[in-house]
Amino acid sequence: MAGRVLLVEDDTSIGEALVSSLRSHAYDVAWERTGAAGLARAAATPVDLVLLDLGLPDLDGVEVCRQLRATQPGCVLVMLTARSAEMDVVVGLEAGADDYLVKPVRLAELHARLRAHLRRGGSSGTTGPAVRAVGDLVVDVARHRVTVAGGEVHLRPKEFDLLARLAAQPEVAHSREQLMADVWDENWFGSTKTLDVHVAALRRKLQEVAPPGRRVPQIVTVRGHGYRLELAAPDDR
Ligand code: CA
Repeated sequence: MAGRVLLVEDDTSIGEALVSSLRSHAYDVAWERTGAAGLARAAATPVDLVLLDLGLPDLDGVEVCRQLRATQPGCVLVMLTARSAEMDVVVGLEAGADDYLVKPVRLAELHARLRAHLRRGGSSGTTGPAVRAVGDLVVDVARHRVTVAGGEVHLRPKEFDLLARLAAQPEVAHSREQLMADVWDENWFGSTKTLDVHVAALRRKLQEVAPPGRRVPQIVTVRGHGYRLELAAPDDR
């Protein structure tokens, strides 16, 4: 079994095509057609990943996203959205989704993304030491735990992988393409907005837990290139 996927999609032909493709790739798939049924199913049965249509007949998909994120913190949330709805994407990612796919969904892309998301302990676990300390930030890859000056930082799976990747080589500028390839998938195609949203979430979370006067590295934007994890005085930015 490749993973337990919950599909929440009201469109019958899209749903049937996705379910059949997912089953042919050995996923254990449950399909619900309303937001309420999706939430009930996720509460009753453990799932690894939810594929969530944003245009549902009963509840706003963004609201479903928010509730799933609150009740199922460990599961991966991937939104399905129409090409025209760029705003939906941003709102959905802010509501807790990990990623999004634009309809019509290309099946090769869907499977590449699912593999990337369900690859537990991904590439971040394979390079560098198991515990990475940068100033007062400690990324414990083996325990999948991040602390700042001893206080735990709660990260979603891809936020953790991204921070672990940056912390493996602090003070080094990583290109956007390299980060997408390392943290998400080597065959990534599409927008890198997902990367920016994860960086924004990491910055916010690291800032929230940082006690005054401690040395907490910052994720610095390298214009036209990517990002770098840097230990600097707070007024250096
Ligand atoms: Ca729909």
